[in-house]
Order: sequence, then structure tokens, then C-alpha cells
Amino acid sequence: MIVEVVLNLPLRKSFDYSWPDNLARAPEAGLQVLVPFGAQKKGGVVVGVKEKSDFSRLKSVETLVDEEPLFSGEMLELTKWTSEYYFSGWGETLNSAIPGGLALRLRTTYTPSSSSSSLPRLDALSEAPLSLVSSQETWTQQEWLKCSPDQRDHQILRGWLANDEVHTSHILLGQKAKPKMERWVRLLKADEIKNTEKRRKSKRKQIFDILVENPTVCWSDIQNRVNAPSQALKKLKDEGYIDFFEKRIYRRFIEGELPQIEAFQDLNSQQKITFEVLKDSLEKGVYRTFLLEGVTGSGKTEVYLHAVLAARKLDKSSLVLVPEISLTPQLVNRFRSRFGDLVAVLHSGMDDGERFDEWSRVRSGIATIVIGARSAVFSPLKNLGLIVIDEEHDPSYKQGESPRYHGRDAAIYRGFAADATVLLGSATPSLESTNNVKNGKYDLLRLTSRIHEVQLPKVKLLDMKTVASQKGSPYFSSELVEALRLRLLKKEQSIVFLNRRGFAPLVRCSKCESTYTCPNCSLSLVYHQGANQVRCHQCDFVNPLHNRCPECGIENNPRIIGTGTEQVEENLKMFFPEARILRMDRDTLHGKHALSKMHERIRKHEVDIVIGTQLVTKGHDFPEVTLVGVIMSDLSLNIPDFRASERTFQLLTQVAGRAGRGHKPGEVLIQTHNPRHHSLLCAKEHDTTQFMELELERRLNLRMPPFYSLTLIVCSSPHEERAEKMAQEIHDRLRTYISNTVQAVVRESDEKYEAETADAVKVIGPIEAPMKKIRNRFRWQILLKADNVRQLLHLLKHVFESPPSIKRDELVQIDVDPHHLL
Ligand code: ADP
Ligand code: ZN
Repeated sequence: MIVEVVLNLPLRKSFDYSWPDNLARAPEAGLQVLVPFGAQKKGGVVVGVKEKSDFSRLKSVETLVDEEPLFSGEMLELTKWTSEYYFSGWGETLNSAIPGGLALRLRTTYTPSSSSSSLPRLDALSEAPLSLVSSQETWTQQEWLKCSPDQRDHQILRGWLANDEVHTSHILLGQKAKPKMERWVRLLKADEIKNTEKRRKSKRKQIFDILVENPTVCWSDIQNRVNAPSQALKKLKDEGYIDFFEKRIYRRFIEGELPQIEAFQDLNSQQKITFEVLKDSLEKGVYRTFLLEGVTGSGKTEVYLHAVLAARKLDKSSLVLVPEISLTPQLVNRFRSRFGDLVAVLHSGMDDGERFDEWSRVRSGIATIVIGARSAVFSPLKNLGLIVIDEEHDPSYKQGESPRYHGRDAAIYRGFAADATVLLGSATPSLESTNNVKNGKYDLLRLTSRIHEVQLPKVKLLDMKTVASQKGSPYFSSELVEALRLRLLKKEQSIVFLNRRGFAPLVRCSKCESTYTCPNCSLSLVYHQGANQVRCHQCDFVNPLHNRCPECGIENNPRIIGTGTEQVEENLKMFFPEARILRMDRDTLHGKHALSKMHERIRKHEVDIVIGTQLVTKGHDFPEVTLVGVIMSDLSLNIPDFRASERTFQLLTQVAGRAGRGHKPGEVLIQTHNPRHHSLLCAKEHDTTQFMELELERRLNLRMPPFYSLTLIVCSSPHEERAEKMAQEIHDRLRTYISNTVQAVVRESDEKYEAETADAVKVIGPIEAPMKKIRNRFRWQILLKADNVRQLLHLLKHVFESPPSIKRDELVQIDVDPHHLL
């Protein structure tokens, strides 16, 4: 038999291998295998089985990693769709679909063909490698590397390998993430013990006492209670009193016990109407997508919980996707307190072992409800009935690296394939989803008021060009400072939002006026005062702030321009020395449970003012917060991207939604330089409908999504002229293909579809990317635009059938439905 295998490589193809007879089972799609690839061995996945191959002289599959398929047919189909739609490797997608990826741990061993003493140039080795090679018949790669071989040592080894004087072999040690097993003890014969034991305090007696209480006990529990019990335990086993067995334990990210089981809330009338529609759809068991547009605090999450329960009553599993930073313990506990351990949680803050174990609980059917971030869309739930995508507009659903999939869109495909009900929820839906409601693809459900008649907060725009600013900081209006003061007096909490971390975004030489920029990226360095460093927010570049200008070399007092959360925190401390202030941004989040600890402090009212970046905008419900202030709300408007207005409206509405969620009314003060911009005006009025109308019209005029589909091709290289040349070459190929197919139509009428498809695509560029250089790579880009994505994929497939010839350090990245064009 021949198998088609995909590997974790950025290649859109599979490789044929023959299936040797000595393997433990017949081939089947979904099996993970080890295969030779070039000079290496690699882990891959069987995606097809066939009788014949178009290639002769196939290599054989080396071993099976596991006798059971790693991926189900459903998962193979979903990952295949994802890789085709996002124009990435199927193997890459499979790799990101399981915790720990497809990488395998291998042990490489070297063995000389005859005796090691006859190896040429043996004496030229350094001391430690020489002693290893002369003293052992075979040695592992690990042992070799431990000897710290130098350049010449490596060269000698490579020479032996090339001349077959030394052979390598690879032993599979398994997947990177492995099940964790625990040893347990089981009592076999209870009654006879009492009589046989006379000595009171012997180890045997102590062990028996434990086992009589609990006939199966974990080995480590016995160790905790009996000093050095191993010998005694072994003896008891030999005598047939007890037995040992292995039990799989699941590592859990969440600390502590299950929360108390809570009753479901009675839904209010709007929630009930919404829920009935969903329940009906679940019972029908056919695919349908709903968009639930509900203002902040309107009880969307409660509706999700009821829908999950309804799915459960039908014996169906549920998948709940949320943006990474909304995946707070508060949210997870809401699910765990209703469904207990049926809930599995998957996110990137967990280590490989924890993720692997949660994933295994899902795979084995122990957990039938998954809450997770983007990649949880690939969790191995069976019999899926419901998919919820909370905050469906959130940009973090789009993966920034290959495969560049959108979690929401992949989830909708999954729902479609599984005949599931898909529920998208948001207070500020994406324009894509709004448009899909308009064109009938999705059904709209609405929750128009907050629970318990709580009013939405009053929002005021403060025009920074005209309002009085506070003494001591140009970034605060006196009105905002007074509002904060009032909350402190009333012992209420406030949130101040500024979407920029660090102290100041610009450092400028006071002599030559040049801005300090990152040596690796075409971006200004951000000043961080706490560490007295300048940092690049794109790469890892960090430097102490030097007074010598990197440009002119003159000693000067560089000017620090603009503001960030660090500076705002300093200002707040100056205005309110008594206030308890918490800064929440990536610089203050340290450690695994940092975010939940911060939430805990806010909830316990140990904090008066929270200042933070996007981290403060969502995912939590603090009833004591009555004021939200926004500093420089225009930051996100000034980004040269067609989604800037949408993003700004969403951020402002979300952060405003944090105010007045309890019984005290909320107030929101937004400082701006664009008080007449529709994003701000609509956020002020909480008018999502109006915003959508205006923005959809604008997008139509701009010929942008959701009315048109985009694909961004970015060519990057350490050499500027190469980046440009690569882009130019790809551009020429695109053009040639389009004009050839269009001309072909004149001759051949069957090719009409091809021609129309090709002609429908607009090629824009090549141009230098707005972010010209990132991590020492120069970037050029081409934008493709068409009425729909099928036309783009069709073109890409033909043009990239033979990949462009690029050098090792060069990259061509293709982003279908890109989320930003920078
Ligand atoms: P959203 O997800 O829309 O922000 P939530 O579901 O978190 O809204 O609801 C906001 C608050 O109202 C929560 O504290 C929740 O427990 C409460 N709540 C939701 N639905 C009900 C209900 N039907 N009856 C009583 N309280 C509710
Ligand atoms: Zn940089």
C-alpha cells in the first residue's frame, strides 16, 4: 500500500511513502508516522491511502507513532479546508491543531562501520569528543553535543557520515507531550491480613491500615504516610496481598477544587426569546449561524450557558470560543459552576502537558464542553451540537502566523460540516457578520437592554483642543481628574484606558532632532522609565537609554515625547498620592496566573484606579466600577488601515461597557482630538446600528471588505533590493497568468470561467510595506482584491503551483482575508 503523508512544512502538498508489512497495522488516514525526509526523520500524518503512486522508488514509512489515528476524519476535513482556504500547508495546520504539535522526540545514535580506532582523522578531534568516540562502541547525539565539539569536530563527524564510515540510527522516543501516569496500589486479600500481622507498628501494618481504609491508593500517598515503603510494598505484592497498577492523571491548569454548583438563572423575556430560537435550531440538528447582538451586560453569557445545557440534554457537545484575554477565571468559573468537570479549558497560557491533558480529556469524551481561545476550534469534540464564538469581532481570532486562519470562520465551517448551531455573540459585531445578516447568511438575535434595567453609562466626548487641561499633565483634562477625584471620595472604582504601554513612544535627540529607531525594524523605540530602557515593541530589541545619539553621536539630553500607560500611572500618583493604583499591561503581567490575581484584587476592591491597555477592556464584570476614562482615544484611528474606524468604535464601546454594571450608574469620559468622527459619535450614543450603516457605506465606496475579498502577499528579505525584486517577480507572474487566461477565452469558450475569474482580480502594488523593515527583514507587498475569495484562491493556486525561486533567508507570506495591511 501507498500512503500520502503531510509534514509540518510550509508546503501545499503531500508525499507518497510505501507502507511496510512489518508495521503493527494497516494504513489509515489520521495515523501519525515517522518518515525519512531528506537526510532527516520527521513526524507526519497519513492523509490518504492508495494502491499506486505516480512516483517510482518510494521511501518507506519508518514507524508508527501510535496505533490509533491521532486525527479523526472530521478533524482531517476541517484542517484540510483551513489549509486550502488560507493557502497554507495541511501539515502546518495539523501541527497547530494539537497541543505540542507534530514534532517527535528522536534519539540519534552514531555507530562506526568497523572499529572506531580505524576512523580517519580521529586524532584531530578535541579532547572530550576523542575520549567519547574511542571509549564507546556507539554514542548518541546528546552525548556528542555534551562534549562541546567545535567547528572542526563537527566537520570530522560530517566527513565520516558522508563516507559511510559512521552510520546513524534514529529511535522514536514519542510525542513531545506525553500522558502522565501515576502508580497506584490495590488491595487484593483483605481478611487474611489482620491475622497474619502481629507486630503492631511494622511498615506492613501501616500499609495495611491505609489500604483497609481505601482499597486503592496512590503510591505517593503511601509514601507520604509511611517512611520508605517501597521494599515492604514489593514484598506484599510478591506474597499476593496487593497489586500495582498505572493510572493516567490529568494535569490541570486551574488551581483548586471545583466551584460550588450553581443554579441556572431564570432568563428574562428577551433572553428567553433568543434561547428558544437556539433550542429549536439545536433540536432540528441542521447547520445554522446566528448573530447575537447584545449590549454589554445584557446577559449574553447566560444565554450561552443555557444553550450549552440544551445541547447537553440532546447528548451533544459544545465548543465555546473566546478571545485569549477574555478567558478569565471569572468566565471559566461560570461554566465550571454549572457543568463541573465536563468543562475543558484550552488556551496558550497553559504548558504543553496541561494542554495535552485537557485535550486528551476532550478526545476521550470525559469532557464534552470546551472553552478555549482560537486554536480550540480544533479540539477533538465528538457529536458537536453547538459552537459559540463570543466577542466574534475580536481581531485576536485571526492567527498572525501560518496557518493564518480566522478562528471564527474556521468554527463556522466546522459547524456547517457537523450540522451544528453556531452562535456569534458581540456588543459590537464585525462588519463581516453584520453584512452576512443583511444578505441572509446569518440570522440576527438581539438583547437590547442590560440585565435588571441597569442603564448604559452616559458617555461624554472631551475635545482636547478646547477643554481645560490639568496642571501637571497635558494628557489629562481637568474634568477627567475631577471625575476620578469624586469616585475616590465616594469609594467607587475607576478604569483609565490608554492603548499604549511604556512611558513614551518617542525619544528624540535634542541636537540633531532624529528619532531613536530600532536597528532591526523601521519603528521608533519606546521609552520605558521603570527600567530606563528603550524597547522595540515589534522585536525583542532592548537597550539602556543612552545620552549619546545613535545618529549624530553627540551627547545630549534626549527629549521624551508622547505618553504611555507608565507615564499615566505616574501622573495619577501625582494627582492622587493616596489612591491605590493598579497598572495592567503586558509589562506588569508576570507569571502564570497574573491576570487572575489582578482581577481578584479589583474585585475585592483593593484597588481604586486601574490604568491599562486593551487588557482592561473586556472579559470582566466589576460592579463597583462607575467611571471609565479614555486617554488619547484617537490612537487607533490614526493607524493607516481600513479597519481603523471599526476597531476604534469597538474598543471604545467595549471599554465604556465596563462602567456602571452594578446598581450605581456609570459615566464614561473620552478624551479626543476627533470629536466629530463617526466612530466616536456612535460610541457616545451606544448606537451600533448607526455605526454599521455608516461604516458599511464607507467600505462599499472604498471597495473593501466585507464587500470585496483581499489577499496580502508579503515578500521579505534581509536585502532591500531582493525584497523588491521578489515582489516584482510575483507581480509579473500574476499579471501574465491573468492576461493569458483572459486571451484564451477568445479561442476556447470552455475556459470562460477561468477567464472571468482571473479578470475579476485586481492586483495592487508591488509597494514597500508601511512597516518597511521588521526583525531585519525588508518587506514589500502586493494586495489582491476580488469580489469573492474563490477567485483569489483560484488565481493563487495557478500562480503558486510552482513556488517562486527564493533563497534560504527569504520569505513569501500569503495572507488570505488579512487583518491588517501593515
Ligand atoms: P454579557 O455577557 O452580555 O456581558 P452577562 O451574561 O455577563 O452579560 O450578564 C451580566 C450580569 O447579569 C451577570 O452578573 C449575570 O450573572 C447577570 N445575569 C444575566 N442574566 C441574568 C438573568 N436572567 N437573571 C439575573 N441575572 C442575570
Ligand atoms: Zn525592532
